[in-house]
Parts: sequence; structure tokens; C-alpha cells
Amino acid sequence: MIIGIDLGTTNSLAAYLTADGPRLIPNALGEVLTPSMVGIDLDGQVLVGRGAREFQVLHPDRCAATFKRNMGAEWSTQLADKTLTAVELSSLVLKSLKADAEAYLKQPITEAVITVPAYFNELQRKATMRAGKMAGLDVRRILNEPTAAAIAYGVHETDDEKIIVIYDLGGGTFDVSVLERYEGTLEIRASAGEIFLGGEDFTNTLAARILEQRGLVFERAEIEQPLLVSRLRRECELAKRQLSRGEDAVVRIPTKTGDLPDDAPRITVKREEFERWTEPILSQTDGPLRRALGDARLKRQDVDEVILVGGATRMRAVKERVARLFEKEPRCSLNPEEVVALGAAIQAGLIARDATLEDLVVTDVAPFTLGVEVTHQFGGENREGYFLPIINRNTTIPVSRSKVVGTVRPNQTTIQVSLYQGENRRVEGNLFLGEFEVEGIPRGPAGESIEIRFTYDLNGVLEVDATIVATKKRVSFVVTKYAKGLSDREIAKAILQMQALKTHPRDETANRYVLRWAERVYRELPLHERQFLERLICGFEEAMELHDQAATEANREELERFLKQLDDGFENSDESF
Ligand code: ADP
Ligand code: MG
Repeated sequence: MIIGIDLGTTNSLAAYLTADGPRLIPNALGEVLTPSMVGIDLDGQVLVGRGAREFQVLHPDRCAATFKRNMGAEWSTQLADKTLTAVELSSLVLKSLKADAEAYLKQPITEAVITVPAYFNELQRKATMRAGKMAGLDVRRILNEPTAAAIAYGVHETDDEKIIVIYDLGGGTFDVSVLERYEGTLEIRASAGEIFLGGEDFTNTLAARILEQRGLVFERAEIEQPLLVSRLRRECELAKRQLSRGEDAVVRIPTKTGDLPDDAPRITVKREEFERWTEPILSQTDGPLRRALGDARLKRQDVDEVILVGGATRMRAVKERVARLFEKEPRCSLNPEEVVALGAAIQAGLIARDATLEDLVVTDVAPFTLGVEVTHQFGGENREGYFLPIINRNTTIPVSRSKVVGTVRPNQTTIQVSLYQGENRRVEGNLFLGEFEVEGIPRGPAGESIEIRFTYDLNGVLEVDATIVATKKRVSFVVTKYAKGLSDREIAKAILQMQALKTHPRDETANRYVLRWAERVYRELPLHERQFLERLICGFEEAMELHDQAATEANREELERFLKQLDDGFENSDESF
């Protein structure tokens, strides 16, 4: 069984294909969304998902979120006494999804299809595959998220030729893709996006406006009063969701220490106000939309269908803007947070069954231009640092393209082939991917020909060959550069280090989570109401310590019921869409 995984910036999901279509896999808490968050508990053990999210409210310094943005970069973060990279954090999320799938499907799961944004580059795709490997998953295919969403909507099942725009506004990223469906093919014609634009920005803007009204600056408050800000952000997240349904929402203002006493000040936010404050963020989605349509050489009128993806597209202003822009109602019948995982599961099923794969030829595109550094001559003078594109951005992959370059000096016997990715004329503005040397060029006048061939496969793996045309001597290079360039030995070492990290047993996930939840709610209660909660928590902890499973469960359920009553229905996923 190959499972499909949507490894999101905010939430991750796993799904598999059944005879009746794709189905989501619930986690240990019985939920399909696992927040992409990792925390290090006070006892040094790893918390993943909602447990980590509850924990973060009180211990922001021991938790990490939105690390997907840093995939492929030289980035790490300090959680308690541990330093973790984005790949390692992602692997912990994947490991948790894998364990959930194994428990639910009652079989070992070792293979997966993982989705990534269409604009993820070489390093980011590689980093994602590595995270899978660290989690014990063989990544059979890296699938672009918009392609997955289109598959979930069954776009591949009819033969109608059409142009589909996928508008994906997630928690932290915006991704727009133009897909074309024709003759058994589903092709991404163009994609564009913003790596720092998502639902989170709407929440933060709301929090910033509220702080501003109280004479505080968001960025300063974040440093000086982190507990207040993290708690307020949670209130604003709730309010934002409420405003997707109703006309107004109430936000309670926490104290400096993040507490929410009975007499905490309350502010009512109107939807109209919220939309006015966040309009500048929403309007930032226009740029990538225009870019993607332009790259695909299309006009808005050419678009037959628009599909909404990502939890943030539940906001009414988003739906309205998209409908106005394209003059048609966008498709949103499937849950926008789930579609990518569902599509990944269909793709995984097709790969597993092999035979049915030919029904669906899914082609992807190179999201960036790939090329080499060359020297230009100006009035007899050589100037280095120019970028020669070999594969243009938005070329359908798999693809293999070549260009011929020449030596610049007489009797030059070696050349250095430097590989870059990006859209700038000069290489210094582009991302360096690696380099290699070609030796043994025959002596002679300048201009000896060398053919450089780039081959980009479906997994986004880039191979570069340089052939000396005169002698047919060929040098190959596979772009494997990842961050600092980990060797296989270093990867093995990283895997071992990760294994040393202790993770709570899966059957304790629910207990841990309820305990974290209770601790947070406890702080928000007025003193006289804390007593009863304290009794419930103690009873629960005692049962846990005695390893009395029946009593643990009974106590947990009682505690959960009480917490639900007190809490504000943050997790009620009853949003109608
Ligand atoms: P990602 O792909 O980044 O993991 P998701 O598709 O899971 O993101 O979307 C998460 C975002 O959706 C969050 O910013 C969350 O606040 C937002 N979101 C979820 N439900 C709603 C809602 N009802 N109204 C507004 N925003 C929502
Ligand atoms: Mg997403």
C-alpha cells in the first residue's frame, strides 16, 4: 500500500485509495488534520500535531511551526536543548503520519507519494524526499499540490479540453497554477506563488490591529510579551474562522502572562472591518495570478474552471474576489484543506496498481529556469557571470534540453560548468545548484564546442551532462546539493541522531494532548473555577501513573467533556463551506 501525504505548512494529512475512492486517515486523536508542529516536551520527548500546538501557547520556545518554508535552506531552530533542521522537523511529522496510517490500516507502511508546492525548487524537493527517508518512507513520487487538487476533483476522468486555475491559499503560502486538460493529459502550464502569504497573515494582521488599538506594536510585543501575543493570536485565529461564517466575532485580550481571566477585556470585530484591514494582504494574490496567466499566455476569460484549495479560501472575501476576477463561481465542493491529500492518495493508488497509470498521464513543469554560467565578450574583453538558460521555467517535465557553449581562450583545456536556477540575467541573482569540471578539451583556437544537456525527471531530479563535441568525451553530474551538501554518510548519521529523539508512544498521544489542553485552560480560568479542573487533572494523572488503562480512559473522557464545555469550540470543524 502506498499512501498519499499532503505535508502542509500548517496542517498535514495522509490518505489512501480504496475501491470507493480516496479516504483520509485519522490520527491518534481521531482527526484527519495533524498540525505541522513539533515540540519538545518538558521531559525531553517529542510532541507532534495538536499536542505541540497546545504546548506552544505556553512554551513557544520549545515548539516549531511553519518550518516547511525553510525546506531546502540552511536553517535550523533550537527547541529546548536540541537543534533541528527543517528536514528533521518534517520527518517527525511524517513519522507521526506513518504511525497513524499503520495503526489505522493495520499494516506496515513504507511507501508514500508526498506533495509539494509547484514552485518548490530542486533543493526543496530533495529535502522533502530526504525527510521521507528519515521517517522510514520510500518516496515513490513527489507530486505537485495543484496537480493533486485537480486529480481530486476528477479533472482527469473526462476528456474535455479545458483550462483550470488552482488558487491555493494555505496557512503560510500562496500558490496559483494554470492547468490544461487535453487528450488524456493534465499539464501544469504555469505556476507562480508567494512563499510568505497565507491565512496566518490574516490572523497576524488582526492581532496587530488589536494591539495597535491598545498602543502596542505587534513586532515589539512579540519579543517583549510573547505569551500575550501567542494567546492573542489564538483568539484571533478563532475570530477569523468565526468571520467566515458570521458577521462579527469577539476577541478576548489576554494578560501579559497569557492568561485570560474572567474580566479580560473583549473587543468585537466586524467582518467589514476585518476585510478592510486584510485587503492589502488579499490583493497580493493578484500579482502571482497575473504572472501565471501571462506565463501560460492566457487571459482571465480563457479560464474554464477555478478550484479553491487551502483553508484560507474559506474566507468569504477570497471567494468573492476570485468570483469577481474570473466572472465565475469557483469550485469548492470538496473540503479545501483535504483536496491535496485526496489527490495524492489517488496518485499513490495509480502508482501501486501500475496498470491504470496510463489512464492518467500527469505531467508537471519546471518551476524555475535552469541553466549555466557563461562568459560574454564585450569589445574583446571577457566578462563572467552571465546566466545561460537551458530549460525555461514552466517547461513540461520530464524534459531534456541542450545548448552548445564554446571555450573563451585559445588552448583552453578545461571548463568549469556552474549550474544555477532562477530568472536573473546575472548568476549572482540566481540560486547556485552545484558545479563540475570538464577536462581534456583539445587544444586549439577559442570556441571549441561543448554541449551542455540538462535532463529534468518527474521527481524534479536534475542531471547535467557536458560533452566535448570533438572527442565525444562526456562528464555527468547529478544535482544532489542539499543545504550544506549532505553526503550519504552524513544522512545516515542524521537518521541515527533522529532515532535518538524519543517520541511518546502513539497510544499516549491523546493523553498528552488532553493534559496540555487542560494546562492551558487551567491558566485561563478564574481562581475559584480552577479547583474542580485541578481535581479532574489529578485524577487523570494518577490513573495514568498507575497504568490503569480503563481508569485513564474514563478520566480522560470526563476531563475532555469538561474542557469542551469551558473552551470555545476552537476545534469544531463544522465549518460549512
Ligand atoms: P497549509 O496548506 O499551509 O497547511 P491549510 O490548507 O491547512 O494550510 O490551511 C490552513 C489555513 O486555513 C490557516 O491559516 C487557517 O487559519 C485557515 N483556515 C481554516 N479554516 C478557516 C476558516 N473557516 N476561515 C478562515 N480561515 C480558515
Ligand atoms: Mg496546502
